[in-house]
Amino acid sequence: MSFNPADNIQDLQFFGEFGGVNPSISDSSTYTFISAKTMLDTFEGNTDGCYLYSRHSTPSNLYLGEALAAMEGTEAANVASSGMGAITPTILQICGHGDHVVSSRTIYGGTYAFLKNFTPRMGIETTFVDITKLRAVEAAISATTKIIYCESVSNPLLEVADIKALSVLAKKYNLKLIVDNTFSPLSISPAKLGADIVIHSLTKFINGSSDSMGGVVCGTLEFVNSLKSVIDGASMLLGTSMDSLRSSSILKNMRTLHIRIKQHSLNAAFLANKFEKDGLKTVYPGLESHPSHTLFKTMMNVEYGFGGMLTVDAGSLEKANALMELMQEKNIGYLAVSLGFYKTLFSAPGTSTSSEIPEDERKEMGLSEGLIRFSIGLDNDIERTYKMMKTCMLEVGVL
Ligand code: PLP
Repeated sequence: MSFNPADNIQDLQFFGEFGGVNPSISDSSTYTFISAKTMLDTFEGNTDGCYLYSRHSTPSNLYLGEALAAMEGTEAANVASSGMGAITPTILQICGHGDHVVSSRTIYGGTYAFLKNFTPRMGIETTFVDITKLRAVEAAISATTKIIYCESVSNPLLEVADIKALSVLAKKYNLKLIVDNTFSPLSISPAKLGADIVIHSLTKFINGSSDSMGGVVCGTLEFVNSLKSVIDGASMLLGTSMDSLRSSSILKNMRTLHIRIKQHSLNAAFLANKFEKDGLKTVYPGLESHPSHTLFKTMMNVEYGFGGMLTVDAGSLEKANALMELMQEKNIGYLAVSLGFYKTLFSAPGTSTSSEIPEDERKEMGLSEGLIRFSIGLDNDIERTYKMMKTCMLEVGVL
């Protein structure tokens, strides 16, 4: 049978303590032991099924981790308090002083800032490359490289990484391919295409209600356990653990992820087509004009579509700001960072989520000032929304 991430989630059955249809929430930070010997064994990582302390793991976190591992088709997963709380320990678990990372240059601003400004303090250097140019990726690999890092669909430029080809490179040089799949859950399954580690910010589509922070690292059981090791596990020691109340609410929201993603994709595809026909510079992986449209098609789980993210160039920052303010006034969506909400969210990445990237580098990668990033919502009547958007665009002179 072929791999279907949503069916894998559906097949998971977790009951609560008293036969509840949802698993019980583990409302404890610490756990008792009948015997002192078991406590020592648990500290040393030799006891399966025993809980020690909630920074290490909790039953609620394990349920959510199991669902995310099923979704990505990996052996295991470790949930974290935020997307950055998943990304930073993963990199630090693999790299130490003197090691090197080859990273896509178009990634979430926080990840970029971490690799560019923070990890050099620990002797970890990063070369940023155009991830769509495999020759440039290979040329950047050196004897000290440990990681190839990218996003399947990049934030904010929506560049698409050729995960299969990158995994061939990673294997050739014995590197770990880490893929942040936050923009394309269900649509793309990076581990199935050869990624070693798949990361998500659960704060976005997976939770989908903009009320929680969360992250996850999906990978082999060995790697996930190494992150949680009490001796030298980066997640355990940096303390980026998720709270059980949060993991239980995210797990419940995951049950509707497939319905939401299909609607986000339908609505975004509709708008992207309309905007492009109107003559706007529109980027959406589902458009034939997208440079990686064909590549995306070879990687995607077709029924979930091309995702809910698109960008439009308003021509200037002034026009972008005027359009976003007017769309908010008309209740079309919110001028807010983040993504994956039921409501459309929009922001200008150059002055928000990617402002960590220096201006000259933003220019080089094509991140213009007037670029608006849209996370398209779950609107019932997207044609109606389009008409409202068009009226706003005409009013501020974007069209
Ligand atoms: N990865 C991507 C692609 C993101 O867009 C974000 C946040 O915007 C993150 C990671 C970081 O996630 P969090 O804000 O949950 O720490």
